[in-house]
Amino acid sequence: IPVDPFDLVIFGGTGDLARRKILPALFRRFCAGQMEEGTRIIGAARSQMDDVEYRAFVAEALLEFNSGHSGCEPGTIKRFQKTLSYVTLDARGEEGWDALAAKMHPGRVRAFYFSVGPSLFSDLAQRLHQYGMADHDARIVVEKPFGRDLATAQALNRSLAEHFDESQIYRIDHYLGKETVQNLMALRFGNMLFEPLWNSRYVDHIQITVAETVGVGGRGEYYDRAGAMRDMVQNHLMQLLCLIAMEPPAKFDPDAVRDEKLKVIRALGEVGRDDLVRGQYLADHEKPGYLEHVENPDSITESFIAMKLNVINWRWAGTPFYLRTGKRLSDRASEIAVVFKEAPHNIFTEDTGRHRNILTIRLQPNEGIDLDVTIKEPGPGGMRLVDVPLDMTFSEALGPDADDAADAYERLIMDVVRGNQTLFMRGDEVEAAWAWTDPIIASWEARGDKPIPYATGSFGPEDALALLHRSGRKWREIR
Ligand code: NAD
Repeated sequence: IPVDPFDLVIFGGTGDLARRKILPALFRRFCAGQMEEGTRIIGAARSQMDDVEYRAFVAEALLEFNSGHSGCEPGTIKRFQKTLSYVTLDARGEEGWDALAAKMHPGRVRAFYFSVGPSLFSDLAQRLHQYGMADHDARIVVEKPFGRDLATAQALNRSLAEHFDESQIYRIDHYLGKETVQNLMALRFGNMLFEPLWNSRYVDHIQITVAETVGVGGRGEYYDRAGAMRDMVQNHLMQLLCLIAMEPPAKFDPDAVRDEKLKVIRALGEVGRDDLVRGQYLADHEKPGYLEHVENPDSITESFIAMKLNVINWRWAGTPFYLRTGKRLSDRASEIAVVFKEAPHNIFTEDTGRHRNILTIRLQPNEGIDLDVTIKEPGPGGMRLVDVPLDMTFSEALGPDADDAADAYERLIMDVVRGNQTLFMRGDEVEAAWAWTDPIIASWEARGDKPIPYATGSFGPEDALALLHRSGRKWREIR
């Protein structure tokens, strides 16, 4: 459904995120016919450029990062370029701001995407106000990281709130824009089948894995100050956990959903020393290790973390949640596995195996959901049981277009334009997540804990396996 023409300003419009994600996402929505003629996309950054140069810059980014996507004719880039313009501007100076204000169309939805370092967020909000662009038609989109602890997140929330109402602030977490993540809500709250079983009586435990094969790459300086806990757990894994653990909201509206997520974060228990494993990747024969990457031989920042945590409420008491995420692991895969309990009694005496239903929600690769069910092993061999997956890979179940479905950034940017905050984090959610994270980090810092080295291409330190083994469980093999 096309949306009314809007003005979108990308602060940091020449940066890495703009080139790789934001501009290709906008282009694909343009190709899909969702942008009415007259929509204006304005790059704003420090580099000296004019409109013609920016259009060429964007075309190059599209060729590099949009290849392989069907639905976009070669000529479409030219039409898309007409929507683009550029303003040279300094978030901390006066240059360029009058020119930007002059480009705004009164009465239109106006979105400002803060794709710059977080130290500039407050400056941008203040300048938008100063130059008369922060009225009720304005929305701001704020990238991660949203603070590095509770105090900095609160300060940031306060400074944005000076000029913008909470209903105008879109804190983006692109995990929430993924098709499967939203499908998780459809699965839970659109079916009768799962919700009655979705509690500690029937669910043995839950695993959330976000595994990357890449190292810290060019982000070494930032990453070494953050680590996996701040970079991944406090935001992405926490959001996934919330969607799994939350109570059904009364309706699918932004505050109803976010109220329920907030309750989950507030119900999280402390994580003790024995329930936490931190790791750091080693060099292999080809690639440098973490310490070389961040150029800090004394670094004790973790590039891997695994933990057991508890959601202490009526629904989940007794069902642990296991989280793990890390870099330079053997596979790139993100998934949530809901592992159900075994049947209480085995009537098939010929079968001595252990069988469990496992609902797996795959975020990447091959977005989809599958459910392991136990059936009779085919053939004349008696009543032996075997677990087989009921597979629902979206691209197979929904046809070839499903793979082309809007990616997370496309969906989220259009949600901003439509004014739907359901898939964005509210200020109090972010603060609650930091309030849970801070003491965990503080206690390992106070103890001076060092991360355990692990081999590139492994699945993190052995101790992460023991986290489950000691209660007779094991991590699912990532397929
Ligand atoms: P980048 O360094 O590639 O780009 C920064 C942009 O900000 C450039 O366009 C630069 O011109 C502009 N800029 C810098 N100082 C400025 C100033 N004083 N006034 C105006 N513009 C200024 O950074 P990036 O990787 O694109 O990241 C942008 C934001 O997105 C950061 O907050 C980052 O943490 C976040 N983020 C990035 C990624 C990613 O994949 N790159 C992923 C998630 C979040």
